[in-house]
Amino acid sequence: MTIGFLRPTKAVVDCQALYHNIKSELATIKDGAEVFAVVKANGYGHGAVKVAGVAKKAGASGFCVSLLDEALELREAGFQEPILVLGVVDPKHVAILVQEKISTTAASLEWLEQTSYYWHQFECTQSVLIHVKIDTGMGRLGFVEEVDMLAAIDFIEKHPEFYLEGLFTHFAKADSKDNSYFEMQQERFRKALAIFPTTIRYIHTSNSATALWHDHWRSNMIRLGVEMYGLNPSGTELATPFEIKQVMSLISSLVQVKRLKKGERVSYGAEYQAQQDEWIGTLPIGYADGFIRHFKGFSVLVEGHQAEIVGRICMDQCMIRLPHALPVGTKVTIFGKDGDLVNTFQDGAEYVDTINYELPCILSERVPRIYI
Ligand code: PLP
Repeated sequence: MTIGFLRPTKAVVDCQALYHNIKSELATIKDGAEVFAVVKANGYGHGAVKVAGVAKKAGASGFCVSLLDEALELREAGFQEPILVLGVVDPKHVAILVQEKISTTAASLEWLEQTSYYWHQFECTQSVLIHVKIDTGMGRLGFVEEVDMLAAIDFIEKHPEFYLEGLFTHFAKADSKDNSYFEMQQERFRKALAIFPTTIRYIHTSNSATALWHDHWRSNMIRLGVEMYGLNPSGTELATPFEIKQVMSLISSLVQVKRLKKGERVSYGAEYQAQQDEWIGTLPIGYADGFIRHFKGFSVLVEGHQAEIVGRICMDQCMIRLPHALPVGTKVTIFGKDGDLVNTFQDGAEYVDTINYELPCILSERVPRIYI
């Protein structure tokens, strides 16, 4: 993918805000729990390696990713800290896990058996670091039944191919005012915990929402994701107990400005029609950048005004109705601050009926990430 460094559309990543958010979370931890920065999906679109560097400076002692490739990206960038792959790694890649000392999720007995088989096939000599995942109600990855957990414990004990480094679960509703589902999951984890050895290094249940709104019950590691990027995991349902700052801004600038006569139309389908003589500005960002077509009608910020996106969003461009004539090159803030005005990812997410997590994640590689 070619990155558009020579066009004015940029995702600006504020490293100080990132640092602030991590430090703020660390300041709330009383029991010595560690923070692993979740930098999967290219650091939620912010750039995994850069985010990992800032997180490490702020005090994160490890990282979580989703793919083995993402873990390798961090190792190649020189990070020696613990890295946990949260997804399922193909057992055939066990030798990479061992060689790179990458910890991974063990979510079924079948996976343990297959990984053991390949461990021998590849004549590995060191144990694979595993975190056993308990599915307490997410319905995604992990052991559900006690009998399967006991079988896994037995298998791990008999197979030096594995080193049981962690035990964890993931909450489905830690970001809700209603705690009942959270408490049900917590109770199931409590039961699971009782049957596992007490010597396990990392016991972890906290994502951002759990860290923000629940005590870290028996958890000595936090998998800190969206909060670090300055986004509220609950959307607007719950207020964060301390200020978190949105880390990414998305900016562009006008590449053409024209006077459209009343009755003239804009973009594919000619859906938008000027109701009067209007100033229309063209922005070099479109759906190929991850700025999806559903943003039609959303207002961006220009010179302290809101300017509506008019007509359909094209692959590489979109048009906005300007408050008055403005010169080519005028800065336009799609997400971020412009004077007293601010467009948050939450505003955008509500507009296109999604969650704030998704918007920085889907910004394509074509949009350069600029670190300030
Ligand atoms: N832990 C697991 C297993 C996850 O899948 C995720 C993210 O999806 C996280 C932690 C981080 O969650 P959040 O970004 O809500 O902090």
